Amino acid sequence: MTLKGKTALVTGSTSGIGLGIALSLARAGADVLLNGFGDPAPALKAVADCGVRVEHHPADMSKPEQIAEMVEFAQARFGRVDILVNNAGIQHVAPIEEFPVERWDSILAINLSSAFHTTRLLLPGMRERNWGRIINIASAHGLVGSAQKSAYVAAKHGLVGLTKVVALETATTGVTCNAICPGWVLTPLVQQQIDMRISAGASPAEASEALLAEKQPSLDFVTPEQLGGLAVFLCSEAADQVRGAAWNMDGGWLAR
Ligand code: NAD
Repeated sequence: MTLKGKTALVTGSTSGIGLGIALSLARAGADVLLNGFGDPAPALKAVADCGVRVEHHPADMSKPEQIAEMVEFAQARFGRVDILVNNAGIQHVAPIEEFPVERWDSILAINLSSAFHTTRLLLPGMRERNWGRIINIASAHGLVGSAQKSAYVAAKHGLVGLTKVVALETATTGVTCNAICPGWVLTPLVQQQIDMRISAGASPAEASEALLAEKQPSLDFVTPEQLGGLAVFLCSEAADQVRGAAWNMDGGWLAR
């Protein structure tokens, strides 16, 4: 229980990768503030079953004023946030000429600007205690592009850039900032893209295989548990000098 006594805020943690990371941090002993849409009850129960304190705040991460309210809620309920995981994210797939302007704005707000707001609001407390971990869930698309994902790729490259700047501004402190860059993980966000292939005539198995074969040489999905393991490592003392990294866990996506 290496993270006992620490509090983690994981944005977008009612499902998928965020929930996987929240559970890994909880199993390591951290209390957790969950965030995200949908019924939070299953996620609250799963984290509580790890024997830690857990709460949920429903802030919409595209709204700076709601982010500020969530940070105040965290301070009031837990007294501190030591580990910030900026994970909330959405996707939209379309050629740039047809990309809906409001989807561009939402993707930039949720996938990038929200991390600026949580970081600027929580960093002062981390600096005061001279300990903190900021983990930005970027993507393989934070390091390379793919057609039809202009907003997502721009936001994730931006998040990797933000990670480097925060790492430099905190370099002489006990606060570290790093990005994790997953390849394909089978979550609702990716299921939508598999469903698009099924609508175009593929069987479910063919759709998953084709999605993996295009990008991920392992031909296997990364799991939220594996990403949670990396997040726990980044919170450990062994990772004190891992700063400004964009760490891919992608089944070999970036190796080609
Ligand atoms: P998901 O759809 O399963 O989960 C997204 C979470 O974010 C949910 O809890 C949802 O409620 C929450 N959310 C969405 N919009 C929100 C908003 N406006 N305010 C607050 N919460 C909001 O998706 P996921 O696949 O688990 O993705 C999590 C992160 O991982 C995203 O940043 C995504 O870009 C990144 N990622 C995913 C993959 C993948 O293959 N699934 C790969 C690389 C990176």
